Amino acid sequence: MKVLISGASVAGPVLAHWLHHHGFEPTIVERTPELRHGLGGHAVDLFSSAAEVTRRMGCWDAIEAARTRIEALTIERFGKPPVEVDLSRMYAGISSSHVEILRGELTKILYDATRDTAEYIFGDSIASLHDDGNGVDVTFDSGTERRFDLVIGADGLHSNVRRLAFGPEEPLRRWLGGYLAVFSMPDIFNVGNHTLAHMSVDKLVGIYGVHQTGQTRSGFLFRTPHELHYDYRDKDEQKALLVKEFSDYGWKAPQLLEHLASAEDFYFDSIAQITLDTWTSGRIGLVGDAGYCPGPAVGGGTSLAVVTAYILAGELASNPASGLKNYERIIRPMVESSRRIGPKLMGTIIPGSPLALRLMPFAAATLPKLPTSVQRFIWSQNAVGKTFSSVDLLESQVRQSIT
Ligand SMILES: Cc1cc2nc3c(=O)[nH]c(=O)nc-3n(C[C@H](O)[C@H](O)[C@H](O)COP(=O)(O)OP(=O)(O)OC[C@H]3O[C@@H](n4cnc5c(N)ncnc54)[C@H](O)[C@@H]3O)c2cc1C
Repeated sequence: MKVLISGASVAGPVLAHWLHHHGFEPTIVERTPELRHGLGGHAVDLFSSAAEVTRRMGCWDAIEAARTRIEALTIERFGKPPVEVDLSRMYAGISSSHVEILRGELTKILYDATRDTAEYIFGDSIASLHDDGNGVDVTFDSGTERRFDLVIGADGLHSNVRRLAFGPEEPLRRWLGGYLAVFSMPDIFNVGNHTLAHMSVDKLVGIYGVHQTGQTRSGFLFRTPHELHYDYRDKDEQKALLVKEFSDYGWKAPQLLEHLASAEDFYFDSIAQITLDTWTSGRIGLVGDAGYCPGPAVGGGTSLAVVTAYILAGELASNPASGLKNYERIIRPMVESSRRIGPKLMGTIIPGSPLALRLMPFAAATLPKLPTSVQRFIWSQNAVGKTFSSVDLLESQVRQSIT
């Protein structure tokens, strides 16, 4: 069977690898003219089940070698002493295995693992899809027309395949109350392999080092009472919006914002989930953020993308006729769990009240000092911990599905 996959980031190449493994012929179409790889992009997490999938792909050594190596976090607040957090110990309490890697590095590793077994088309996009029950006729923006047995959208939060097959994004989007901006800049504060975060009510500014380049990524997260209106294509408007939000914040924000104008990899988006409840329609399906983005930076989206792509390929191989529907049934509990993480983690990462601002750093610093089993028990008993127990629940559901 010939399968067209839209999107060559995380879910797309993982799906292509496993489809080829099971005897399918995958083609990946990616909108960008070349692979979005290298040291750009943000840091993402692979928790144990996703790590296991990449291990089975033979990618683990490369992923381990490229990890960010950030193991410590310093949380600062106005008028309070800094709080040190041991991130390695904290992740050990959440998952039996964890690696943090830049999304671009992960994409490159997954591409290298699939470039000889999948057909890659860069700089093109699907313009129209017609599913006649026996196959899908696809027209590309370039004008090329081809027919495939299946088409899978792995094209992210603002998925093109989802729009074409399931309708516009707006009614399917659940805004979680905040915004997120990330950009690269020189390491002017010597953060090295460290993360610095400064929190206040409704705002967070963070800086982490990228050891491969000696640069840093600056991240700004903030909550607003109402959704902001801006042109999602206009980077200058988004930069101005960020400056307006943080111009009088203090701490290191003014120096960070000085590098905004020259930032080439500036990313700005609302923190939103996709709430679609069906991810297949006839011979068309969705995987990863395209189908069920749990919210950028707040929901373990990368692990979910890796594991669900693996499950989708396995179900199609077991039964090509009912594979899409079986995939949908199997992943539903983990998608629902992942949806619960985002809103909780939003309240933890960006404290929503003075009480949360006091409690979060205290919990983050104290829990990693406890034995892993005790950490897990405590996290399962309190509001901050329920955020993490959702990740854990997701982990156990995923484990059952891939073993
Ligand atoms: C700032 C930020 C921070 C994040 N932090 C974390 C984190 O700490 N931990 C974590 O686990 N996750 C994090 N995430 C989420 C994570 O990046 C995603 O969950 C993950 O990348 C999903 O993979 P995907 O392959 O489904 O989609 P994506 O990685 O979004 O990839 C979609 C691909 O489709 C391509 N595409 C888009 N439109 C088209 C089209 N029309 N035609 C063809 N191709 C197209 C895109 O160019 C891209 O290559 C973060 C996300 C952001 C934005």
